[in-house]
Amino acid sequence: MRCQPKQIPAHLFRAYDIRGVVTNELTSDVVHDIGLAIGTLVQEWAAEKKELGQQDQQTVIVGRDGRLSGPSLIQALKEGLKNSGVNVIDIGLVPTPVLYFATKFLGSSSGVMLTGSHNPADYNGLKMVLHGKTIAGEDIQKLYQILQKQVCSQGSGHERSQDILMDYENRILREIKLTRKLKVVVDCGNGVTGILAPELIKKLGCEVIGLFTDVDGCFPNHHPDPSKPKNLEDLQKAVLENKADIGLAFDGDGDRLGVVSSQGKIIWPDRQVMLYAQDVLARYPGSVILYDVKCTRHLAEIINAAGGVPLMCPTGHSLVKKEIVKTGAKLAGEMSGHIFFNDTWYGFDDAIYTAARLLRILAADSRSSEEIFASFPESCNTPEINIAVSDQEKFGLIQKIVKTAELGRFPGAKIITLDGLRIEFPHGFALIRASNTSPCFVLRFEANQVLELQEIQSRFRAFLLECAPHVKWDF
Ligand SMILES: [Zn+2]
Repeated sequence: MRCQPKQIPAHLFRAYDIRGVVTNELTSDVVHDIGLAIGTLVQEWAAEKKELGQQDQQTVIVGRDGRLSGPSLIQALKEGLKNSGVNVIDIGLVPTPVLYFATKFLGSSSGVMLTGSHNPADYNGLKMVLHGKTIAGEDIQKLYQILQKQVCSQGSGHERSQDILMDYENRILREIKLTRKLKVVVDCGNGVTGILAPELIKKLGCEVIGLFTDVDGCFPNHHPDPSKPKNLEDLQKAVLENKADIGLAFDGDGDRLGVVSSQGKIIWPDRQVMLYAQDVLARYPGSVILYDVKCTRHLAEIINAAGGVPLMCPTGHSLVKKEIVKTGAKLAGEMSGHIFFNDTWYGFDDAIYTAARLLRILAADSRSSEEIFASFPESCNTPEINIAVSDQEKFGLIQKIVKTAELGRFPGAKIITLDGLRIEFPHGFALIRASNTSPCFVLRFEANQVLELQEIQSRFRAFLLECAPHVKWDF
């Protein structure tokens, strides 16, 4: 089978997904060959499982988001998969969590989502669940190696289409009932959630004011990335103007949620998780709640107070899913907005389901969303700070930074090296990690007071300057 490794740049194969610019990197030919490699890997794993007496698995579900390159690339992906010998079920234009849902629902546990998530309009990418496992890291590298070695399997799979949106919607509507009507502003940022989320929230019994609900791969309004405050400005304004109970913003493919309180205040995901954790722990006392290294220290306090077991984990949606399986956590949350319910949902990151859970909690409480979130401890912290560094250099430098910190550089502080370096002082923390998806370091700081925050930042800056003097530590 045609499989030309020269044309496939290694950097497309990232830690959590495959991603690239569609004009010259992630072209139809490349996506076809990646489809071949995915089909090959699915069959290899099926053969291994068969040896262990498990069932064969040779069907792959595919879906796509609303990007302009979606229709042509999904064709190429399907051709590649079929040419490798696997069957394909095409569920069409869907948010990413609906694709994940399909792998739990349609009798095939493998799925590929063609999505560029929140990235610029000329990007696209692939998120993959193979045999029930969100593949990442080494497994994504395996796909690259299959292409390099040109060892793709050959065959001719069949294809069929299936509409799954109703099943997904019904599943949520069966579970989530609101005890009062809420007024909700829903900002889809012209991403693919526009086909489903506003209507679903209406069916939950809410009054919905929709913003940018038309799916438009040019993203003519703000970008569908709720982790950036400027992308939440329209939502904040609309919540205040409409005197809404809450504002919800979805990222481009619906796996991350942004929240704005009734007073127009941004509720960052680590504070959202405080509320979700209390809800989950009331139902499942003593369960493990996971959160990534970027989250506030107060989250552990809240989880402990609610009778749960707080556990910090590395950043990255596929790494978090792995930790969920390992620990049996009933809930996990990332600062980026990926929230994973694993109590009555399936443990994948689903911003639409998360929104429904949030609305149920708010409806059951007589307080406003502003009052509810204000009841949680607040600290001074920075948003995520990105410092440019080359992809070639970033991991090596992080190793050096971790090693230097471990030489007793911060006496009395707790050094956490789960993912980069998090130094917990008695009054705050400093974090630096290498982004797995961009050429940058990610930093975040927190303290009880502004002066302490400044002190931690300047101390950490001096330390980083010593470790890597050539990097522009611009924070
Ligand atoms: Zn996303």
